[in-house]
Amino acid sequence: TDRTPKYKRILLKLSGEALMGGDAYGINRQTIGEIVQEIKAVADLGVQIGVVIGGGNIFRGVAPAATGMDRAQADYMGMLATVMNSLAMQDAMRVAGINCRVQSALSIEQVVEPYIRGKAIRYLEQGRIVIFAAGTGNPFFTTDTAAALRGAEIGAEIVLKATKVDGIYTADPKKDAGATRFDRISFDEAISRGLGVMDATAFALCRDQKLPINVFSIFKAGALQRVVMGENEGTLVYC
Ligand code: UDP
Repeated sequence: TDRTPKYKRILLKLSGEALMGGDAYGINRQTIGEIVQEIKAVADLGVQIGVVIGGGNIFRGVAPAATGMDRAQADYMGMLATVMNSLAMQDAMRVAGINCRVQSALSIEQVVEPYIRGKAIRYLEQGRIVIFAAGTGNPFFTTDTAAALRGAEIGAEIVLKATKVDGIYTADPKKDAGATRFDRISFDEAISRGLGVMDATAFALCRDQKLPINVFSIFKAGALQRVVMGENEGTLVYC
């Protein structure tokens, strides 16, 4: 069989919640280790990988815990949560023998190096995985937007959005038993059907930059690799 990946460089977006596993909060070591193995399988194919991790397993600016807080202040806490997740992921990669760098959109230089685009691209070319921490570095944005932004900046061929649900459905599959999954859908059709693929800012950026998105489940063994091999997995949003 042909083992040539379809993509040479990808941007993988992991939600913070993906790191919780079965827990109610925080980082589950076993779960993060399993996710790292999925990533390693793709790295071993020679694919260059940038990663953006959310923070929702620890803190979200719009979550009930932040209600009553100044929104920007809460968002900075959310960004710091993504830094913690990124450090946990880097350590799990170290354990798995993967060479990985973390770059942060907020400067915390004793802990992580700052985001420098040229350096990030150089790391990728050297076969290192780069985790982009602290989202975009700005409040009122999300890590989905950070994924679209960094994906465009590093010249990724696609944004892979790893979620708990294995793609985009006609309706919420938890509420509607008749909901069906799209194998592929255009940006325009996703908009006209009002489907929430990513938040609106992230979605618009991907569409403008002609950066396709593949939504898939990180908890399905081998799914990440199938996406990278160009197989039909989850839902592909194309231009
Ligand atoms: N955040 C932000 N700007 C960014 C990215 C993230 O302010 O560019 C904050 C925001 O409060 C958000 C939190 O960080 O709720 C965690 O990110 P997100 O909700 O995207 O995480 P996920 O849902 O993917 O776990």
